[in-house]
Amino acid sequence: MAKHRITFITGDGIGPEISEVAGKCIEATGIDVEWDIQTAGLDVLEKEGTPLPDRVLESIRRNKVAIKAPITTPVGTGFRSVNVALRKELDLYACVRPCKSYPGVRSRYENIDIVIVRENTEDLYAGIEFQKGTKEALKLINEIASLDPKAKKIRPDSGISIKPISVEGTERIVRFAFEYALANRRKRVTAVHKANIMKYTDGLFLEIAREAAKDYPDIAFDDRIVDNMCMQLVQVPEGYDVLVLPNLYGDILSDLCAGLVGGLGVAPGANIGEKGSLFEATHGSAPKYKGMNKVNPTALILSGVLMLRHIGEKNAGDRLEQAVAEVIKEGKYVTYDMKEKRQDKSAVGTREMGEAIITKLKKVVSVKG
Ligand code: NAD
Repeated sequence: MAKHRITFITGDGIGPEISEVAGKCIEATGIDVEWDIQTAGLDVLEKEGTPLPDRVLESIRRNKVAIKAPITTPVGTGFRSVNVALRKELDLYACVRPCKSYPGVRSRYENIDIVIVRENTEDLYAGIEFQKGTKEALKLINEIASLDPKAKKIRPDSGISIKPISVEGTERIVRFAFEYALANRRKRVTAVHKANIMKYTDGLFLEIAREAAKDYPDIAFDDRIVDNMCMQLVQVPEGYDVLVLPNLYGDILSDLCAGLVGGLGVAPGANIGEKGSLFEATHGSAPKYKGMNKVNPTALILSGVLMLRHIGEKNAGDRLEQAVAEVIKEGKYVTYDMKEKRQDKSAVGTREMGEAIITKLKKVVSVKG
């Protein structure tokens, strides 16, 4: 029996081709791994009547760790997003998005090394919404008006979204951020909020973050109002370390920070909970490139790096990251999106970039740090 049994959801669109390459790169680190391959998404919906069969969830619950390639969410079909469903079903409350500069990736900035820790289950993202004009929305508007005079100004033709932020949900995400900082030798955690305006939700988030910070004297703590944070991130991103945010701000700032370091092609991600963890690239299934052996496998490979560290294979993770970084820096065996001109004929395919990373990996014996 392999030491690590890991669920691998191979996705659709470009998913299968980047999965094949990422799987080979992870195996090439020499760790003892057995993949429990699972399919989900549109093709599975046709065959099994659901895009997310129970076998997938059972596999993750059993193995506790999964890596996933992107899955298409068709617009306007009533097809529930498998990505959102997985996070909900497994209570993957912490979304971790490292945004790091790799020399060779084209970007306006350098020396960025920010980790976004986003709460994944609450906030406006909880999906508690009332459609304008429905009797539920009208009832809610009337009830709120009887509780708060300001609410009398809510127009009857309003749609309503509810923003719950709880003590328990906040406590676990801010503690997760501090524990992550300690485990990864980070120096500072910054809480991001709009507590000046939303006193009972963002205010609560900030208050709990301040309290939790007292238990981590070795990690510096500060906070920023989200609009100011956006300005600071485009002006002095090198100055930031770990950011902890409620769900919606986390969603927006994750992409902002991915943009600072060269875009979604190089942005890995992790969704972590008590019952399991799911590692996935930030980008989608790019259906127009399906089967063309064209797209960049880096984001999924770097998600594999996060996974290796998470399962205690730090050395393997560090070596694989170094191999990826060196291939990118050399710029020879990289996909079209990493070339200065996208039509550059010297760009290689997905598989060839993977092979170059594996060749490089064989030369990386260990990584200091
Ligand atoms: P996308 O990320 O799939 O593609 C947008 C563009 O980014 C592509 O056309 C391509 O130019 C580029 N791109 C993306 N990944 C790349 C890669 N690895 N290498 C090189 N270029 C790359 O975003 P989209 O078009 O908005 O979404 C397509 C589908 O993916 C949608 O159904 C969406 O719901 C889904 N999606 C899934 C996930 C997930 O599974 N976690 C995340 C985001 C979007």
